[in-house]
Amino acid sequence: MTYQIDERGYYGAFGGAYIPEMLYQNIEELQEKYLKIIESEEFQTEMQSLLQDYVGRPTPLYFAKRLSEKYGYKIYLKREDLCHTGAHKINNTIGQILLAKRLGKTRIIAETGAGQHGVATATVCALMNLKCVVYMGEVDIDRQAPNVKRMRLLGTEVHPAISGSKTLKDATNEAMRDWIANPVDTHYIIGSVVGPHPFPDMVARFQSVISKEIRKQLKEKEGRETPDYVMACVGGGSNAAGAFYHFLDDESVKLVAVEASGKGIDSGLTAATTVAGKPGVLHGSKTLFMQTEDGQVVEPYSISAGLDYPGIGPIHAWLFETGRAQFLSATDAEALEAVMELSRLEGIIPALESAHAFSKLKDLNAPKGSVVVVNLSGRGDKDLDTYIREFGEI
Ligand SMILES: *Cc1c(COP(=O)(O)O)cnc(C)c1O
Repeated sequence: MTYQIDERGYYGAFGGAYIPEMLYQNIEELQEKYLKIIESEEFQTEMQSLLQDYVGRPTPLYFAKRLSEKYGYKIYLKREDLCHTGAHKINNTIGQILLAKRLGKTRIIAETGAGQHGVATATVCALMNLKCVVYMGEVDIDRQAPNVKRMRLLGTEVHPAISGSKTLKDATNEAMRDWIANPVDTHYIIGSVVGPHPFPDMVARFQSVISKEIRKQLKEKEGRETPDYVMACVGGGSNAAGAFYHFLDDESVKLVAVEASGKGIDSGLTAATTVAGKPGVLHGSKTLFMQTEDGQVVEPYSISAGLDYPGIGPIHAWLFETGRAQFLSATDAEALEAVMELSRLEGIIPALESAHAFSKLKDLNAPKGSVVVVNLSGRGDKDLDTYIREFGEI
């Protein structure tokens, strides 16, 4: 049994490249070249140097003493919240911008929901002096005004997607349309382990620096490279894929993926794909997503904009189906409780997305003293308005 992608771009039954004919050339070019480029020494040298001096890697692996005392485990936090721009997303955009340059592309497009991937893309485009257009649903442009301002300050054009529900899936459709119209000069930076092959594998590789560092840091702190558990939240699944990557074939390491169940699994307002979804083709790959009887995408819901996606990447569909990862889900209310807990116990205000992972420490049922690594995918500054609204006068 392997959990790695096969040469056709599949994880078991999931993955592949289901794309309109107009995109064949772009996708084929990527499929043929991506591994050669990103595995070259010259690419790795430039990427390592940027990850270190620009992103701020390695991020610390922090032993959370008070949280550990509370749950009876040895809990370590992987501090992706300390990355430049405040989350793990920049690990991927750095990798993809370096790839785009080597493919001779001069223009970058991206989709964004909450604006976090848009900001990470706008950031690396400013850094590399490439023209950047970000598609964002009109509703999200209103909801996420500070991130729209950040992108514009960085020199990016933000284009509203005005079709459908005017949210992330519509922005993704607009970005695909743009790519079809501009196949020669444009690279599309997808923000999670989703989309047609090779995007899921490419993004997983760029995020795998997270688990690579965990192994090294845990060896220094615990005398062994492998923890008993790794926990991460899943929207599309890129931070989880990065945190799991170098443990996939170590079956002694239990992988725990936490989805957002929103107002609750049975409320109809949820983003818990493994519970509410079925197999089908979404955004170019075969995976699990929430759909109606006739296969139309069902609008997801979560208080956290970064987890508000109707599907999961094909690697996670496979980890779910094989049972290699355990999938749990956390409600809005549970995530908010975890925000408060981490803030008060450790002096760290997490992103709402990351708080979903922390909220399941109480349901882990692991032996006392287990070594548990939780991926702290981002910081909570962007969610402060939500926290003030939800917690009221504290
Ligand atoms: C975007 C985001 C996520 C969700 O995306 P994944 O691809 O599932 O990692 C999680 N946490 C933070 C902080 C984010 O910005």
